[in-house]
Amino acid sequence: MRLSRAFLPTLKETPADAQIASHRLMLRAGMVRQTSAGIYAWLPLGWRVLRRVEQIVREEQDAAGAQEILMPTVQTADLWRQSGRYDAYGPEMLRFKDRHDRDMLYGPTNEEMVTEIFRGYARSYRDLPRNLYHIQWKFRDEVRPRFGVMRGREFLMKDAYSFDLDREGAQASYRRMFVAYLRTFARMGLKAIPMRAATGPIGGNLSHEFVVLADTGESQVFLHRDLLDFDVLREAPDYEGDLSSAVEFWTGRYAATDEEHDEAAWAAIPEERRVSARGIEVGHIFYFGTKYSISMDLKVPGPDGALVAPEMGSYGIGVSRLVGALIEANHDEAGIRWPDAVAPFAAAVLNLKQGDGACDALCDRLHAALAPDCLYDDRAERAGVKFADADLMGHPWQAIVGPRGAAAGRVELKRRATGERQEVSPEDAVARIRESRSA
Ligand code: ATP
Ligand code: MG
Repeated sequence: MRLSRAFLPTLKETPADAQIASHRLMLRAGMVRQTSAGIYAWLPLGWRVLRRVEQIVREEQDAAGAQEILMPTVQTADLWRQSGRYDAYGPEMLRFKDRHDRDMLYGPTNEEMVTEIFRGYARSYRDLPRNLYHIQWKFRDEVRPRFGVMRGREFLMKDAYSFDLDREGAQASYRRMFVAYLRTFARMGLKAIPMRAATGPIGGNLSHEFVVLADTGESQVFLHRDLLDFDVLREAPDYEGDLSSAVEFWTGRYAATDEEHDEAAWAAIPEERRVSARGIEVGHIFYFGTKYSISMDLKVPGPDGALVAPEMGSYGIGVSRLVGALIEANHDEAGIRWPDAVAPFAAAVLNLKQGDGACDALCDRLHAALAPDCLYDDRAERAGVKFADADLMGHPWQAIVGPRGAAAGRVELKRRATGERQEVSPEDAVARIRESRSA
């Protein structure tokens, strides 16, 4: 994509109302635009990142055996009256009426709807286990929307729902999602720590929040340092076989949010292994048994013919919040430093002398070789402006082409994360960029 023709509006000034780095940088890099409190339009740069995050989430859900569907955003109140949550949910639910005066709502979550859908088709225990998920916009009328997309009112969530014949099966489903979450966040270059959590309005008895450590996080968390040292992608199992031992590693070491913190257990950890930090909740998984299957009247004949209510769990990931969390974890004074897997473009090509024959030709070549995963800064701007914008937008690589290098057929390749620079041939530059994107 040529920057001269792109809709990538960067800002020089720091927006006054943005309190944390990710919000400031998302506005300055032109990723999102607030359209009303807690509601954002995603501009091309932000949308590209959101789609990459979403795709990683999708791939791991699929690999774990969940199946993607798409449920609507608008729901009828009747569904929620069946579970009893229409009155229980409170003012965070956006409620309205249709033209026939029927009570409607914009979905804050989908337990009721998915249970009703599954009820329509499940005929016997042979239809179990199943796990259905979707990636869809949610609305929660938060009292204090803030920190940009981190606590929005409209936000993108992946929510999965598992149905099992018995408690043991439900716990196996829970473990698969647990491992899927570890892998999902690790693939994005994030360390997300599962923490025992309270179950809140979803109800139930087993729940973990996945928390990314960041100074600006809304929650206070406490954990054992072993959990930070663990290399998930190297050591987590794939989805075949028994996942108990993998999950035991994480649940066997102390990690808790403020609400669940246990001073005695904490004091038992050697002092140098204690980490107390701030964190951002990026995912939350629940096992809640038959709460919805019973209230929504979902029952199937079991192996002995007797009716059973499936055991259920639900599993959320804050897809749009993750974009903010990724920036909180990866930025510096100059701007964003995208991890390779989620960057909007694998690289930017910076032409330091637009109009110079050799520079233009070499940049065209690089751009063509890397398209469409490359942003070509072909503007008639000073080099300093191009450097600053590339650092701000955070492309993992910058391929810098000036007249001297172009005459010699060389490219300066800069790694955004480390600031390291190297002179290489155009072929090597392309190979290095492609290789880190696919790693
Ligand atoms: P929080 O405690 O942050 O309000 P929650 O516990 O109410 O979140 P869940 O119902 O567990 O949220 O939703 C699943 C995931 O959706 C959360 O882990 C979080 O990543 C994301 N999420 C929840 N509320 C918001 C929001 N207002 N804006 C952006 N993402 C959100
Ligand atoms: Mg939660």
